[in-house]
Amino acid sequence: MNTQASPPTPSPRLERPASWYRDSIAVDLGACPPLAGEVRADVCVIGGGITGCSAALHLAEQGYAVVLLEAGELGFGASGRSGGQVLPGLGTDMATVEKALGLAAARDIWTMSREAVHLTAERVARHAIPCDLAWGYLHAAVKPRHVRELAEFRDRMARDYDYHALTLLEGEALRERVVTDAYPAALHEREAGHLHPLNYTLGLARAAREAGATLHEHSAALEIRRGQPARVVTAGGRVTADFVVLGTNAYPSGLAPELAGRVMRAANYMIATAPLTADQAARVLPHNDALSDANFVLDYYRLSGDRRLIYGGEVSYDGREPRGLEATMDAKIARLFPVLSGVPIDYRWGGDVAITLDRAPDFGRLGANLYYAQGYSGHGMALAGLAGKLMAEAIAGQSERFDVFAAMPHRRFPGGSLLRTPLLVLATTFYKLRDRL
Ligand SMILES: Cc1cc2nc3c(=O)[nH]c(=O)nc-3n(C[C@H](O)[C@H](O)[C@H](O)COP(=O)(O)OP(=O)(O)OC[C@H]3O[C@@H](n4cnc5c(N)ncnc54)[C@H](O)[C@@H]3O)c2cc1C
Repeated sequence: MNTQASPPTPSPRLERPASWYRDSIAVDLGACPPLAGEVRADVCVIGGGITGCSAALHLAEQGYAVVLLEAGELGFGASGRSGGQVLPGLGTDMATVEKALGLAAARDIWTMSREAVHLTAERVARHAIPCDLAWGYLHAAVKPRHVRELAEFRDRMARDYDYHALTLLEGEALRERVVTDAYPAALHEREAGHLHPLNYTLGLARAAREAGATLHEHSAALEIRRGQPARVVTAGGRVTADFVVLGTNAYPSGLAPELAGRVMRAANYMIATAPLTADQAARVLPHNDALSDANFVLDYYRLSGDRRLIYGGEVSYDGREPRGLEATMDAKIARLFPVLSGVPIDYRWGGDVAITLDRAPDFGRLGANLYYAQGYSGHGMALAGLAGKLMAEAIAGQSERFDVFAAMPHRRFPGGSLLRTPLLVLATTFYKLRDRL
């Protein structure tokens, strides 16, 4: 009998999935070799999406020695696959925050969510990130009750939040921005926009590295040994650090059992058409706005820098792509924009979002030196960048702003690990049915 232990099976290399984003990378990061051996850092950041790269950037700019560990390639997760819509606010209505924390704290959170959008723009400009950032967003009603709700939302945001960037468009004024009869009205938002999410994420990573952070791809954190300092273990090495930042969001790391059940993972899908002609693009989104509809299980789209229609929607909870995805998306696009009938779909891909029970993001600390931010609930493009900044502030001893978010109470999804997914599917089916009413 051979009693020799067999060598450990190498874990599969996590590479970015085929997507239009992957095929249009414009940021050269150079090599980020896996962690090898023992290193000492002030902060170990786990996760190379917007949350992790933003935290690494802010910390490195303040002079901290930062080591960032990413299980796959940088931008492997949602940040490199997203719809790229850069929006203020949260994945939930501000009323949810008011109910939990009161109007004053909700106003602070809203103001910081606007800061998240400005911070995105400022980072893009300062670090010359080639990510096609463009401004203008439409929140489109699909049915009459949505029109009422959007008008009430605009009024409430002006009255309670002093926010005046929303204009309700109907009729010709609306058709001038989105050329379809599908929507009875839409709110146009000046302070929101869209970008190429993978290039943006890689641009943050590049800026973090230029500021002094060390980045390691293919370096999954396998364990965090808590303590002061903490030790983060990978297959090839170990980081000893005074602080740890966890930015793994929907991509399950199993590193902090206390967080189990606070977020659920749901896959979301996108397609990219072939590039449109200038005339076709002008007959879809002539002002290059991004758009989401007002359904609970929503569809969203925008034009890319090379004029493809990037269209997202459709969810799955078991990680399996919905059957006939491409045909479903194709039919939706043809219904909205008959002018695009026959335009081929060049790419399709999916990615995981982490949702919380009430769709508000989940920020917190475990012990004195482990910070986390997760559960942006499909609304993290801008917010994840701010989360990284707020964790950096908290590590530097100024935690007031982080604590405003961390005060948000979060309940676990009911049902334990076996029943959570079926219950979520049931709840979503209910909302999908309601979307049809
Ligand atoms: C299809 C899709 C469309 C979306 N559209 C929008 C949109 O239009 N607007 C919007 O605001 N939001 C959108 N979102 C959500 C948004 O993309 C996310 O909220 C945001 O990118 C989250 O960033 P993150 O850095 O927290 O997580 P991620 O980008 O998912 O990064 C987490 C990283 O952690 C790594 N990781 C996991 N475990 C480990 C470990 N043990 N060790 C090391 N690394 C690990 C993963 O490999 C991953 O790269 C969308 C998401 C998807 C999937």
